[in-house]
Amino acid sequence: MKVLLHICCGVCGAGAIERLTNEGHQVTGYFFNPNIYPAEEYRRRLDAVKTVTDLMKCPFEEALYDPGEWLEKTADLAEEPEGGKRCEVCFRMRLEKTFLYMLENGFDAFATTLTIGPQKSAEVINRIGRGIGGDKFLARDFKKQNGFLYANEFAKRFGIYRQHYCGCIYSMRDK
Ligand code: SF4
Repeated sequence: MKVLLHICCGVCGAGAIERLTNEGHQVTGYFFNPNIYPAEEYRRRLDAVKTVTDLMKCPFEEALYDPGEWLEKTADLAEEPEGGKRCEVCFRMRLEKTFLYMLENGFDAFATTLTIGPQKSAEVINRIGRGIGGDKFLARDFKKQNGFLYANEFAKRFGIYRQHYCGCIYSMRDK
């Protein structure tokens, strides 16, 4: 299938691209992450994704970076801990946009790298993804089957940038 893969960062991208390609899918990466703060950090993660997709010969699209709507939708959830309600809003926003891009651009299905993070609940992310796209969403837990290990080894081998906080201004504050 032609799969549009929402990619949150270079390291996670490597693990998920490897797995979906091994399953026989034609993968295109999609970088839509208005949660990332500040803009310099956004640029660092985007550059890392470009490096990974080049190395893995995976086509790649970047959406417009416009954090305004994300900040509005999460403004009342600033004090939520990582993994709480703010993250559900954040997952939903990114997956809704990926689903729309998939529909408008001739893909068969969509997926996200988000489940590869050890702190991220695949159950929550997959529930949101299925709620948005039904069976067009490829529910996976990319941290399983050594996905997280593969991604880390790939990053070390090629010197891929690794961030120290999840991405938003609140996660940066809490680190
Ligand atoms: S902690 Fe991560 S997943 Fe949660 S809202 Fe911030 S950027 Fe999004």
